[in-house]
Amino acid sequence: MRIKDKKRFIVACGGLAAILILAIAVLTLGFWHRNETQSETTNQKNSQASTAQTTNAKTESDPVTTNQAAVTEQPAQSETKEEEKNNAAESGTGTDSITTLVNKNHSISASYIPSDLVTVDLPSTRDTQLRSVAADGLTKLFKAAESAGLELYCCSGYRSYETQSELYAWNVDTYGVDGAELVSARPGMSEHQLGLAMDVTSATVGFDLLESFGATPEGQFIKDNAHKYGFIVRYPQGKTDITGYAYEPWHLRYLGVDVATAIYNSGKTMEEYYGTN
Ligand SMILES: [Zn+2]
Repeated sequence: MRIKDKKRFIVACGGLAAILILAIAVLTLGFWHRNETQSETTNQKNSQASTAQTTNAKTESDPVTTNQAAVTEQPAQSETKEEEKNNAAESGTGTDSITTLVNKNHSISASYIPSDLVTVDLPSTRDTQLRSVAADGLTKLFKAAESAGLELYCCSGYRSYETQSELYAWNVDTYGVDGAELVSARPGMSEHQLGLAMDVTSATVGFDLLESFGATPEGQFIKDNAHKYGFIVRYPQGKTDITGYAYEPWHLRYLGVDVATAIYNSGKTMEEYYGTN
Protein backbone atom coordinates (compact mmCIF):
# COMPACT_ATOMS: atom_id res chain seq x y z
CA MET A 1 0.00 0.00 0.00
CA ARG A 2 1.19 3.39 -0.82
CA ILE A 3 1.51 6.07 1.81
CA LYS A 4 -1.22 8.13 0.18
CA ASP A 5 -3.55 5.12 0.20
CA LYS A 6 -2.58 4.34 3.78
CA LYS A 7 -3.71 7.83 4.89
CA ARG A 8 -7.00 7.45 3.06
CA PHE A 9 -7.56 4.08 4.72
CA ILE A 10 -6.98 5.48 8.21
CA VAL A 11 -9.30 8.42 7.57
CA ALA A 12 -11.97 6.05 6.30
CA CYS A 13 -11.55 3.74 9.29
CA GLY A 14 -11.73 6.69 11.66
CA GLY A 15 -14.88 7.95 9.98
CA LEU A 16 -16.43 4.51 10.11
CA ALA A 17 -15.59 4.17 13.77
CA ALA A 18 -17.06 7.61 14.49
CA ILE A 19 -20.28 6.70 12.69
CA LEU A 20 -20.41 3.42 14.59
CA ILE A 21 -19.94 5.13 17.96
CA LEU A 22 -22.56 7.70 17.05
CA ALA A 23 -24.99 4.99 16.01
CA ILE A 24 -24.41 3.06 19.25
CA ALA A 25 -24.88 6.25 21.22
CA VAL A 26 -28.11 7.07 19.43
CA LEU A 27 -29.45 3.54 19.90
CA THR A 28 -28.49 3.46 23.58
CA LEU A 29 -30.10 6.84 24.20
CA GLY A 30 -33.18 5.79 22.30
CA PHE A 31 -33.51 2.58 24.26
CA TRP A 32 -33.00 4.33 27.58
CA HIS A 33 -35.53 6.99 26.70
CA ARG A 34 -38.10 4.37 25.67
CA ASN A 35 -37.68 2.50 28.95
CA GLU A 36 -38.05 5.66 30.93
CA THR A 37 -41.28 6.61 29.10
CA GLN A 38 -42.68 3.12 29.62
CA SER A 39 -41.94 3.10 33.32
CA GLU A 40 -43.47 6.56 33.69
CA THR A 41 -46.66 5.35 32.01
CA THR A 42 -46.75 2.32 34.25
CA ASN A 43 -46.28 4.49 37.29
CA GLN A 44 -49.06 6.77 36.16
CA LYS A 45 -51.34 3.81 35.57
CA ASN A 46 -50.49 2.34 38.94
CA SER A 47 -51.09 5.59 40.68
CA GLN A 48 -54.40 6.04 38.85
CA ALA A 49 -55.40 2.54 39.87
CA SER A 50 -54.51 3.11 43.47
CA THR A 51 -56.47 6.39 43.47
CA ALA A 52 -59.44 4.49 42.10
CA GLN A 53 -59.06 1.89 44.83
CA THR A 54 -58.96 4.54 47.50
CA THR A 55 -62.09 6.15 46.04
CA ASN A 56 -63.88 2.80 45.91
CA ALA A 57 -62.85 2.07 49.43
CA LYS A 58 -64.42 5.34 50.58
CA THR A 59 -67.67 5.10 48.67
CA GLU A 60 -68.22 1.46 49.53
CA SER A 61 -67.00 1.26 53.07
CA ASP A 62 -68.57 4.43 54.41
CA PRO A 63 -72.19 3.66 53.55
CA VAL A 64 -71.69 0.05 54.63
CA THR A 65 -70.41 1.20 57.98
CA THR A 66 -73.32 3.65 58.34
CA ASN A 67 -75.88 1.03 57.31
CA GLN A 68 -74.46 -1.52 59.70
CA ALA A 69 -74.65 0.96 62.54
CA ALA A 70 -78.21 1.86 61.62
CA VAL A 71 -79.28 -1.77 61.34
CA THR A 72 -77.77 -2.85 64.63
CA GLU A 73 -78.72 0.20 66.70
CA GLN A 74 -82.27 1.16 65.70
CA PRO A 75 -84.15 -2.14 66.13
CA ALA A 76 -82.27 -2.83 69.35
CA GLN A 77 -83.49 0.46 70.81
CA SER A 78 -87.11 0.11 69.65
CA GLU A 79 -87.26 -3.51 70.82
CA THR A 80 -86.08 -2.48 74.26
CA LYS A 81 -88.64 0.33 74.46
CA GLU A 82 -91.43 -1.98 73.27
CA GLU A 83 -90.41 -4.58 75.85
CA GLU A 84 -90.36 -2.00 78.63
CA LYS A 85 -93.81 -0.79 77.60
CA ASN A 86 -95.23 -4.33 77.55
CA ASN A 87 -93.63 -5.19 80.88
CA ALA A 88 -95.05 -2.03 82.43
CA ALA A 89 -98.50 -2.82 81.04
CA GLU A 90 -98.48 -6.42 82.28
CA SER A 91 -96.59 -6.10 85.56
CA GLY A 92 -99.52 -4.47 87.35
CA THR A 93 -97.33 -1.75 88.85
CA GLY A 94 -96.74 1.86 87.92
CA THR A 95 -99.13 4.38 86.38
CA ASP A 96 -98.50 2.97 82.88
CA SER A 97 -99.89 -0.43 83.88
CA ILE A 98 -103.26 -1.11 82.26
CA THR A 99 -104.50 -2.50 85.60
CA THR A 100 -103.59 0.54 87.75
CA LEU A 101 -106.23 1.35 90.36
CA VAL A 102 -107.23 5.00 90.45
CA ASN A 103 -109.94 6.22 92.84
CA LYS A 104 -110.52 8.66 95.70
CA ASN A 105 -107.79 6.89 97.72
CA HIS A 106 -105.34 6.14 94.90
CA SER A 107 -104.30 9.21 92.93
CA ILE A 108 -101.83 9.76 90.09
CA SER A 109 -99.33 12.53 89.44
CA ALA A 110 -100.55 15.79 87.92
CA SER A 111 -97.77 15.47 85.34
CA TYR A 112 -98.77 11.98 84.17
CA ILE A 113 -99.61 11.86 80.45
CA PRO A 114 -99.78 8.47 78.67
CA SER A 115 -97.14 8.23 75.93
CA ASP A 116 -99.25 6.18 73.51
CA LEU A 117 -102.46 8.20 73.14
CA VAL A 118 -104.29 7.92 69.82
CA THR A 119 -107.36 9.75 68.53
CA VAL A 120 -110.15 7.19 68.52
CA ASP A 121 -111.30 6.34 65.00
CA LEU A 122 -114.92 5.43 65.91
CA PRO A 123 -118.32 7.17 65.87
CA SER A 124 -117.94 9.97 68.44
CA THR A 125 -119.77 13.04 69.69
CA ARG A 126 -116.39 14.84 69.64
CA ASP A 127 -112.71 14.08 68.96
CA THR A 128 -111.33 12.08 71.85
CA GLN A 129 -108.26 9.99 72.69
CA LEU A 130 -107.35 6.71 74.37
CA ARG A 131 -104.16 4.71 74.86
CA SER A 132 -103.68 2.62 71.73
CA VAL A 133 -104.29 -0.74 73.47
CA ALA A 134 -107.62 0.49 74.86
CA ALA A 135 -108.59 2.02 71.49
CA ASP A 136 -108.02 -1.40 69.87
CA GLY A 137 -110.27 -3.09 72.44
CA LEU A 138 -112.97 -0.45 72.04
CA THR A 139 -112.92 -0.84 68.25
CA LYS A 140 -113.64 -4.56 68.69
CA LEU A 141 -116.45 -3.84 71.19
CA PHE A 142 -118.08 -1.32 68.80
CA LYS A 143 -117.85 -3.84 65.92
CA ALA A 144 -119.52 -6.52 68.05
CA ALA A 145 -122.29 -4.06 68.95
CA GLU A 146 -122.71 -3.18 65.28
CA SER A 147 -123.07 -6.88 64.44
CA ALA A 148 -125.88 -6.98 67.02
CA GLY A 149 -127.53 -4.04 65.23
CA LEU A 150 -126.52 -1.45 67.84
CA GLU A 151 -124.74 1.84 67.33
CA LEU A 152 -122.46 3.11 70.08
CA TYR A 153 -120.76 6.51 70.26
CA CYS A 154 -117.64 7.66 72.08
CA CYS A 155 -118.23 10.69 74.25
CA SER A 156 -115.17 11.33 76.41
CA GLY A 157 -111.90 9.42 76.66
CA TYR A 158 -108.53 10.80 77.84
CA ARG A 159 -108.69 13.96 79.93
CA SER A 160 -105.60 15.85 81.08
CA TYR A 161 -105.14 16.83 84.74
CA GLU A 162 -106.01 20.42 83.76
CA THR A 163 -109.21 19.44 81.92
CA GLN A 164 -110.28 17.32 84.90
CA SER A 165 -109.62 20.31 87.22
CA GLU A 166 -111.96 22.48 85.12
CA LEU A 167 -114.63 19.74 84.97
CA TYR A 168 -114.54 19.13 88.73
CA ALA A 169 -114.74 22.90 89.41
CA TRP A 170 -117.75 23.17 87.08
CA ASN A 171 -119.47 20.26 88.91
CA VAL A 172 -118.76 21.87 92.31
CA ASP A 173 -120.26 25.16 91.04
CA THR A 174 -123.30 23.31 89.68
CA TYR A 175 -123.99 20.64 92.33
CA GLY A 176 -121.97 21.72 95.36
CA VAL A 177 -119.03 19.69 96.74
CA ASP A 178 -121.08 16.70 97.94
CA GLY A 179 -122.98 16.46 94.66
CA ALA A 180 -119.81 16.88 92.61
CA GLU A 181 -118.02 14.13 94.57
CA LEU A 182 -120.65 11.60 93.45
CA VAL A 183 -120.40 12.33 89.74
CA SER A 184 -116.97 13.79 89.12
CA ALA A 185 -113.45 12.84 90.13
CA ARG A 186 -111.05 15.33 91.62
CA PRO A 187 -108.04 16.06 89.39
CA GLY A 188 -105.42 13.28 89.76
CA MET A 189 -108.14 10.80 90.80
CA SER A 190 -109.77 10.21 87.41
CA GLU A 191 -109.37 7.09 85.30
CA HIS A 192 -109.80 9.39 82.31
CA GLN A 193 -106.28 10.77 82.98
CA LEU A 194 -104.95 7.21 82.53
CA GLY A 195 -106.24 7.19 78.93
CA LEU A 196 -107.95 3.87 79.78
CA ALA A 197 -111.54 5.07 80.34
CA MET A 198 -114.23 5.95 77.81
CA ASP A 199 -117.72 7.31 78.39
CA VAL A 200 -120.00 5.88 75.69
CA THR A 201 -123.49 6.85 74.65
CA SER A 202 -126.11 6.28 71.97
CA ALA A 203 -128.88 7.98 69.99
CA THR A 204 -131.45 6.33 72.30
CA VAL A 205 -130.40 8.68 75.14
CA GLY A 206 -129.83 11.69 72.88
CA PHE A 207 -126.02 11.22 72.97
CA ASP A 208 -126.04 12.24 76.64
CA LEU A 209 -124.61 10.52 79.74
CA LEU A 210 -127.69 9.37 81.64
CA GLU A 211 -128.51 6.58 84.09
CA SER A 212 -131.28 5.52 81.71
CA PHE A 213 -128.57 4.42 79.24
CA GLY A 214 -128.16 1.29 81.40
CA ALA A 215 -131.65 0.10 80.46
CA THR A 216 -131.25 0.68 76.69
CA PRO A 217 -130.25 -2.19 74.36
CA GLU A 218 -126.84 -0.46 73.97
CA GLY A 219 -126.37 -0.21 77.76
CA GLN A 220 -127.39 -3.84 78.23
CA PHE A 221 -125.04 -4.98 75.46
CA ILE A 222 -122.11 -3.20 77.13
CA LYS A 223 -122.94 -4.64 80.55
CA ASP A 224 -122.99 -8.20 79.15
CA ASN A 225 -120.15 -8.05 76.60
CA ALA A 226 -117.60 -5.32 77.42
CA HIS A 227 -115.34 -7.75 79.36
CA LYS A 228 -114.82 -9.88 76.21
CA TYR A 229 -112.93 -6.90 74.75
CA GLY A 230 -111.10 -5.90 77.95
CA PHE A 231 -113.54 -3.42 79.57
CA ILE A 232 -115.67 -3.31 82.73
CA VAL A 233 -118.56 -1.04 83.68
CA ARG A 234 -116.53 0.59 86.44
CA TYR A 235 -119.30 2.13 88.59
CA PRO A 236 -122.15 -0.39 88.75
CA GLN A 237 -125.61 0.14 90.26
CA GLY A 238 -125.83 -0.26 94.05
CA LYS A 239 -122.03 -0.02 94.64
CA THR A 240 -121.72 3.67 95.46
CA ASP A 241 -120.61 2.93 99.03
CA ILE A 242 -117.63 1.01 97.63
CA THR A 243 -116.69 2.96 94.49
CA GLY A 244 -117.65 6.38 95.84
CA TYR A 245 -119.53 7.20 92.66
CA ALA A 246 -123.13 7.12 91.50
CA TYR A 247 -124.18 4.48 88.95
CA GLU A 248 -122.47 5.24 85.61
CA PRO A 249 -123.57 2.69 83.00
CA TRP A 250 -121.63 4.66 80.37
CA HIS A 251 -118.16 4.67 82.01
CA LEU A 252 -115.98 1.87 80.65
CA ARG A 253 -112.54 1.08 82.09
CA TYR A 254 -109.99 -0.90 80.07
CA LEU A 255 -108.09 -3.60 82.04
CA GLY A 256 -107.27 -6.15 79.33
CA VAL A 257 -109.42 -9.19 78.57
CA ASP A 258 -108.07 -11.42 81.39
CA VAL A 259 -108.59 -9.04 84.32
CA ALA A 260 -111.83 -7.59 82.92
CA THR A 261 -113.27 -11.10 82.49
CA ALA A 262 -112.15 -12.16 85.98
CA ILE A 263 -113.79 -9.07 87.53
CA TYR A 264 -116.97 -9.57 85.45
CA ASN A 265 -117.21 -13.23 86.53
CA SER A 266 -116.59 -12.33 90.19
CA GLY A 267 -119.49 -9.84 90.19
CA LYS A 268 -117.25 -7.52 92.22
CA THR A 269 -116.15 -3.94 91.77
CA MET A 270 -112.48 -3.25 91.00
CA GLU A 271 -111.93 -2.22 94.64
CA GLU A 272 -113.48 -5.46 95.98
CA TYR A 273 -111.57 -7.58 93.47
CA TYR A 274 -108.27 -5.87 94.44
CA GLY A 275 -109.17 -6.12 98.15
CA THR A 276 -108.65 -2.42 98.78
CA ASN A 277 -110.65 0.76 98.96
ZN1 LIG B 1 -116.19 8.57 82.74
